Amino acid sequence: MLIIDTHCHYNMEPLFSGQRFIFDLKDDDPLLQMSWQDHWQNAQAKGVVGAVVVGTMIETSDLAIKIAQSEPNLLATVGVHPIHAHETTLKQLDQAAIIWQQKEIHAIGETGLDFFRLDRSSEEFEEIIQQQKEVFRWQIKFAQQTKLPLIIHVRDKTERAYQETLAILKDELTDNQPFVLHCASGSKDYIKEAIELGAYLGFDANITYPKAQDIRDLIKGAPADRLLIETDAPFLPPQNHRGKVCEPWMIRQTAEFVEQQLNLDLDQIFQNTQKFFKHDFVK
Ligand SMILES: [Zn+2]
Repeated sequence: MLIIDTHCHYNMEPLFSGQRFIFDLKDDDPLLQMSWQDHWQNAQAKGVVGAVVVGTMIETSDLAIKIAQSEPNLLATVGVHPIHAHETTLKQLDQAAIIWQQKEIHAIGETGLDFFRLDRSSEEFEEIIQQQKEVFRWQIKFAQQTKLPLIIHVRDKTERAYQETLAILKDELTDNQPFVLHCASGSKDYIKEAIELGAYLGFDANITYPKAQDIRDLIKGAPADRLLIETDAPFLPPQNHRGKVCEPWMIRQTAEFVEQQLNLDLDQIFQNTQKFFKHDFVK
């Protein structure tokens, strides 16, 4: 079983250096004594042969690059997550891009639209959305310039972010520009349209949640050659670890679930991953 974690954050706490960050960890929690190198070793012990370390802002993108420089099968991406878009200017991105272009990176993102936690009654709501869209369009263009795939994050309580994502993609994407909808969610029609535009779909441990039948239906309905798996660690632990920090080794459970419960071919998913990131993980 060859597993690649196509979306995780060794560049974020507590995985990076055992700091609590937003997680409520007791003083004796072993995670506080661990660094990303320990987590990467634990993942490898469970059959993980590679991982994509995803940037979420300029600082975490720089950290992803730093991590990837020391491990050939850890790939870095650079980008600004939609929830950080309003605190990032296009000028800052232009400056970061000058440096990023000189480094080894394998994708752009995570970028996209996320209206999930926004206060819709706030005066700033529409302004924040506009900022997310600008930063999203910038990253699509940067992916075109660098000829790299895009990692897209979309989340909303309504259809709006999903529909606006499709509109932006139709407007900006060039032919055959590869992109993945990471932690895929949304309506069947939206996913169908995205697949027609060329989307790959990334699935996480939430496929193991009893109430996530809609997500299981999406993965079962998708073309086999467009599927990827990921953890999004430190977020989204599998069902038997809910409420805890998701550690990268836990992708093993997602992989086993995909194979045993959903009857999907992990070898095909591995091939999809190599093709999408243009990287040979087993040379
Ligand atoms: Zn992420």
